[in-house]
Amino acid sequence: MYISASQLDRFFTCPLLYKATYIDRIIPFHKSPSMVEGILFHKAMELAIRHQDRYFYKSKQGLYEMGITFDKAHDGLTSAEYVQPMLDRLDALIEGGLRSFNLQSMSNTEMKVYFHVYGIQYFGIIDALKDNEIIIDFKTGLRYKTQRDIDNSMQMVVYAAAINDMRGRPLEYPVEVQYISVSKNDPGHYRIVKRIITAEDIYKLLALSMALKEAIRTDKFYPTSPAKCPQWCPLRKNGECGVYIKKQKYFPAIHSAIIPKD
Ligand code: SF4
Repeated sequence: MYISASQLDRFFTCPLLYKATYIDRIIPFHKSPSMVEGILFHKAMELAIRHQDRYFYKSKQGLYEMGITFDKAHDGLTSAEYVQPMLDRLDALIEGGLRSFNLQSMSNTEMKVYFHVYGIQYFGIIDALKDNEIIIDFKTGLRYKTQRDIDNSMQMVVYAAAINDMRGRPLEYPVEVQYISVSKNDPGHYRIVKRIITAEDIYKLLALSMALKEAIRTDKFYPTSPAKCPQWCPLRKNGECGVYIKKQKYFPAIHSAIIPKD
């Protein structure tokens, strides 16, 4: 069973939303402009780190590499004509990201990682490592990511477990993770939030993995508690959650075994 680290995050937020998104696939996927900007931002950071050149993304080769990504990810869109104007608009945002780190301290950009537990193969891509140890995740959006965001991220726990596993260390070995966050409302600036992944987080990951496996085995995905429903949930926004719950084969209790922190 292959599950991405970000899919696990969705299960952590709400098992019912996970089912709606990845099993029943009733939530349409739209390529929003914000998503495209996020991809470009990540690519610019990746190129800067990989080539150890802050402005590689502006070079002919950099633009070409961005274009290749876009051709693959967004069929029909050609590179230079499409990517360059968007990059011009994104310049200040990228500038903020580039200011947030010392280039020489960053490595292992776009590192694919895997972590196997209870028959689930988690996979993900780490944006970069700082000092070959701290796991970095770049974030874009309308607002800066907060301490609460990183504290609620099971994705980062999967990354930490995968790094420890890869390096032959105990899974519980403490690992620092950081979000480097830029905001469209504050271009040119950045914020960093940090967290240390500890043994407690690893045990939570193991418990969550068992819950996920059990939910898939029994086809029972419970909704999270109403107080925990995130505002961005598409089923909540459209008032469709109740309708969706009634269509399920069972009538689940309002309960979630492991719910995110406040
Ligand atoms: S509205 Fe709440 S319970 Fe329903 S799917 Fe969204 S997060 Fe889950």
